This record gives sequence, C-alpha cells and structure tokens, in this order.
Amino acid sequence: MSKKSEIILLNISGKDKPGQTLALTEVLAQYNVNILDIGQAVIHQDLGLGILFEVPVEAESSPILKDLLFKSYEMGLTVKFTPVTEEKYEAWVTRQGKERFIVTLISRKLTAQKLSAVAREIYEQKLNIDVISRLTGRIPLDGQDNAKSVVEMSLRGQPVDMEAMKTRFIEISGSTGIDIAFQKDNIFRRNRRLVCFDMDSTLIQAEVIDELARKAGVYEEVSGITEAAMRGEIEFNESFVKRVALLKGLDEGVLKEVAEALPLTEGVERLFKTLKMYGYRTAILSGGFSYFGNYLKNKLSVDYVFANELEIRNGKLTGRHVGEIVDGDKKAELLKLIAFKEDIHLEQVIAVGDGSNDLPMIRQAGLGIAFHAKPKVKASAQHAISTIGLDAILYLMGFRDREINF
Ligand SMILES: [Mg+2]
Repeated sequence: MSKKSEIILLNISGKDKPGQTLALTEVLAQYNVNILDIGQAVIHQDLGLGILFEVPVEAESSPILKDLLFKSYEMGLTVKFTPVTEEKYEAWVTRQGKERFIVTLISRKLTAQKLSAVAREIYEQKLNIDVISRLTGRIPLDGQDNAKSVVEMSLRGQPVDMEAMKTRFIEISGSTGIDIAFQKDNIFRRNRRLVCFDMDSTLIQAEVIDELARKAGVYEEVSGITEAAMRGEIEFNESFVKRVALLKGLDEGVLKEVAEALPLTEGVERLFKTLKMYGYRTAILSGGFSYFGNYLKNKLSVDYVFANELEIRNGKLTGRHVGEIVDGDKKAELLKLIAFKEDIHLEQVIAVGDGSNDLPMIRQAGLGIAFHAKPKVKASAQHAISTIGLDAILYLMGFRDREINF
C-alpha cells in the first residue's frame, strides 16, 4: 500500500515583525514541502499567518514541526498545527468555483451593532465569509464629521433567498445608518469603465431650476409645479415646459452667477480626479440645464454632457428650451449610446442619481446606484448610498483609500 501524503495546516500568530514569513518559509523549504494554500492578515500590529502544506511522501512530518516550533518560539510567535485528512482536503477543493459575492459596508462610523446585524443576515443566508478587509484609511479616534469607515467582505455560496436578503439589508440600512452593497464578484466588478451621473442633487447639492426661479422671483410657482410632478399629477416633460416658461425674461448673466455658487456634493472632486487618473469615461445625463452641465464638465473634466438647453435671445431667457427634452427614458437611451460608442459592455457601466427619472438609467447599468434618494427610488435601485459622499462609488468599485490619495 502506498503511503498517503500528510497535509498540515500551520497557524502562526503574534506581534508582526519583518522577516517572520521568510524565516518560516525557509524552514519549509529545507524539507521540500508543497504549499497548498497560504493567507496572511495583519490587524493593528498582530499577525495571523496560515499555511496549508503537504509533506513529501518520502519525508516525515515530525522534524518539520519541531523546526517550525523552535523557529516560532525564537521569534516570540504562537504556533498551532492541525493535521488535515486527504478526504477533507479533497472535499475543500471540490467546493471551489461556487459563486462569490462582495458586500461593502459603508458608514460614517462602523459600530459592532451594524456589523453584527449584517453578519447575522449573511449567516442566515448560509453564505460564508472568506475575507474581510478595510478599504478606508486608519480611523483616528477624534471623530470628524466627514469621517468614513468602509469594510469589504468576500462571500462564498448562494444565498437561500436573495430577495429576502435584499429587503433585510434595506431594513438594517434604515435602522442603523449603514449602506450595504451586495454585488456579484465577477470580472465586470473590477473592470467598470463608464460612470453616468445625474446632475441636480447628485453632483451638486441644489436643484438649479429652483435657484434660477429664486433669481427670477418665481420660486413659489416653480416649486409648486415641481411638487405636483413629484406627486405624479403631471408628467416630467409638461412640468419642465411649465417651469421653464416661468423663467422668461431672466438675464443671461444670472446663469453664470448661479453656476459659480453651486455647491458640489461631498467627495465629487476626489471621485472625478480618481476616475480621470485611472482612465474611466464619465458623463452627465441631466434633466436639468446644459449651461450648468457644461460648467461642471470644464470644472471636473467630464467627457460627455447631455442636458436641456435654455433658449436665449438678446441676453434674456425666452422661457423656451431648444431641442428634445432629456427625461428618464432619454437618460437610459443616452447611457446605452455612449457605452456603444465607447465599446463598453453595459455591465461595465455605473449609473448614479437621486430622482425617479434616474431609475431607467440606473436599471440599465451593471452597477446602478440611488444616491441620497427618496425611499421609493432607493427601493427600486439595486444599490443605494445614503450615508457618505459621492466618492463612496469608488469603494463599491473596490478602491482603497491608499489608491485614492487626493
Ligand atoms: Mg437629480
């Protein structure tokens, strides 16, 4: 009968210092062992290193273990050996290839309550957590208002009930103030190439039409129409025409004034610098006005802008628009058009917006995000960000703070 190969799991823990992995692998190298798996994590200053190795059939394990024990003792590390049977190892190998998911937890401050609520749902869905890593930088104790804490988990398995899980995540999000994004971990997740943005209340913290109405002294009338549209009493296009008509006679110079005073959403500059640096394409698809879209295009180096053009004659707004109105369906159509032109798969497209007119493009994109949106919009989108700024998108894409040093 041939001798079975011996498989041993080595776990090392203790204070992290340079040269530890080197010293231990040198011991293993002397005995010609095969490495079947290896993983290491450093939390604060503590090391956790695991090596699963196979002792060659012609060798004995005891001298290897003795040498490892001696070396670890010398370095002040704690060592644990676990023999693994060939059957158990084979069973582990065959579980390979199961679906993987990425869960991103985004909040200002990560509390144990938030983490345990998510961990419970993952457990109940019979998913296994393989890897947990922090994407944001080290957290200072003096809490700042715009602090961020983002943790990413890699999960294996198939959820028992995907819909129930999503509903539960929305509940946890609402009750604890954490954003939970659940994405399939596939090649597209790491290769997004185009990001399409809504403008008003997404890139900027304002609704431009309201600002213009204030300047024209028709704010009450305009917001009355906006509210009627939001209640679904009138269509977007009809409300658009009515509101623009109220701006008739407004001086062209006001546009510049309003544009220069628009407050950018938290994280926007950091987001665009990063997207630019890594070669992503960007687009503004807005039911607002092209003047402001173009202003942001120059300021943030956006690649495409599609929005509505206000008609101007003799330096005054005429109360009419030029060309076709960009509504929800048009936004989705434009997203597809840009992706087609740039030769980008729809799975590689990200769409972000806050309004119900953003839902068609959000649904079209591989990664669709409702941003600080109303509950109805949030519930209809695959993903929602409501806790931090727009740079949260980078974390959903898997970026770490150290790769976004702006
Ligand atoms: Mg909007």
